[in-house]
Amino acid sequence: MKILLPFLALYRRHFWRLTLGVILAVMTLLASIGLLTLSGWFLAASSLAGIAGLYSFNYMLPAAGVRGAAIIRTVARYFERLVSHDGTFRVLEHLRVFTFSKLMPLSPAGLAGFRQGDLLNRLVADVDTLDHLYLRIISPLIGALAVILAVSVGLSWLDWQLALALGGLLLLTLLLLPPFFYGMGRPTGAALSRLQAQYRDQLTGWLQGQTELKLYGAASRFRHCLDDTETQWQEAQRAQASLGGLSQALLLLISGFTLVLILWLCTGGTGSETQPDALIALFVFCTLAAFEALAPVGGAFLHLGQVMASAQRVSQIMSQQPAVSFPSAMPPIAQGAQLTLRDVTFSYERGRTTLQKISLTLNAGEHIALLGRTGCGKSTLLQLLTRAWDVDSGEIILNGQPIKHWDEPSLRAMTSVVTQRVHLFSNTLRENLRLASAESDDEQLVAVLHQVGLEGLLDNDQGLNAWLGEGGRQLSGGELRRLGLARALLHGGSLLLLDEPTEGLDAETEQQILALLQQVAQNRTLVMVTHRLQGLHYFDKICIMDNGSIIEQGNHAELIAKRGRYWYFHQQLAL
Ligand code: ATP
Ligand code: MG
Repeated sequence: MKILLPFLALYRRHFWRLTLGVILAVMTLLASIGLLTLSGWFLAASSLAGIAGLYSFNYMLPAAGVRGAAIIRTVARYFERLVSHDGTFRVLEHLRVFTFSKLMPLSPAGLAGFRQGDLLNRLVADVDTLDHLYLRIISPLIGALAVILAVSVGLSWLDWQLALALGGLLLLTLLLLPPFFYGMGRPTGAALSRLQAQYRDQLTGWLQGQTELKLYGAASRFRHCLDDTETQWQEAQRAQASLGGLSQALLLLISGFTLVLILWLCTGGTGSETQPDALIALFVFCTLAAFEALAPVGGAFLHLGQVMASAQRVSQIMSQQPAVSFPSAMPPIAQGAQLTLRDVTFSYERGRTTLQKISLTLNAGEHIALLGRTGCGKSTLLQLLTRAWDVDSGEIILNGQPIKHWDEPSLRAMTSVVTQRVHLFSNTLRENLRLASAESDDEQLVAVLHQVGLEGLLDNDQGLNAWLGEGGRQLSGGELRRLGLARALLHGGSLLLLDEPTEGLDAETEQQILALLQQVAQNRTLVMVTHRLQGLHYFDKICIMDNGSIIEQGNHAELIAKRGRYWYFHQQLAL
């Protein structure tokens, strides 16, 4: 239950709205009971008056009461739905934004352990499930308690013994049924949450991996797994529904038993009467109506297991601390980008060092190329410069300030990055470019597309409005890289970090891009990861990396003269 406390605390923000919802719910229930009770008594009393030949029976007052109760019930029900749903949606809205804001700073380290489908499920379905907490659990429970109290006190004016018997039985039902069904429903509730997440996760994988699954003939196997999960999920839903049915049946049984008991107790007369009279109908109908108020309570606790499982899954995200945190502000920093790395060591996992004592100095405006075998840690080094991760030991200093002292907006404004895997958003060409620089106008966007040789993307009726990615035009690997480059150019930071920007390009385009880079990066500091040896003589420094360390550094001429690894790469190329 402790797991629900942080979520219950959220209700405090909308306390009055939710309290009003509960008050209206109680009013609806009491009006329902009043309606049934009064009409029962009214009918019985009128017929008895008829039999006894009493023509002075006042039927106006009870008739007005019945009508009033019916109107109150309808109006209160309407506003109760309006207010309580509005309150719950406000809590959910807050919860969703809160969860999302907790999620963002976790990327990438904190989210590495979650699958995409699973994450989406936690953010959408699990947060949704939490609305049961108020609508299906808290509100009905308070409503039922209030009804029991009102019915017992109300009836005790007429006959305290009968009121005590009915109130006692109602209270006993309220105390026993929920824990019983909570215990019964807990395993299925947890299974429901788990299977729903598993199904969504598998479905996302199945949809995203269609091409591979078809090419390798594995689609039907995957489909079977998906179907299996779906069957189990349906099974859990069936079990939950059966328990719901059982709770209703049990309540009906208890209600029937209580009804017979009350009827039997009434035979000796009600209140001061020793003969049965019209009040019997009042007590009987009141019993029926009061049990109706209890109807959602047994089922409510069936959902508690599912709510708790969902709460746990959402808490798992919310309780994580980001691996990297940024200060809120920093002193003003000089223009240009001067970079120093001092003995930088980093590992993703304990016991497997990815970068080992990397030391490097780059003056503002210098260009450096990082070269090395696949997996030697080049992209990792670039990621440390963007603070996707923090170093384990050593220091990265940017413009005289340790990078840890940089606030996030300043660091992002300073660095323009082309990652190894450029992400294409399912959006227009314009928005795919403008994410790097929101204030760029169409003219600038078109100019930069020409610069990177992507003017072909404008050859359609929609121009910059053309849809890219899902539901639109897909880009080839080379086009994607150039789009990444276009973003970096638009962004215009003083430090350019490029991860294999010419990978997948033909020789001619590669030459063009390298020439463009030399031109646009003239007064900027450039760190470029590459596997290619073309155009490296332009660079002020070339670092050869191996196994997480820098094994050679110098300019093209120095490294060729050294006859080390760089020279060897050139020899291999010449063969
Ligand atoms: P390539 O030339 O193929 O791009 P790289 O030099 O850029 O290679 P990195 O991507 O820096 O190599 O990876 C260095 C090592 O760290 C690799 O062994 C890789 O498997 C591992 N690695 C990379 N990212 C992660 C991660 N998020 N979690 C754990 N290990 C990782
Ligand atoms: Mg890489």
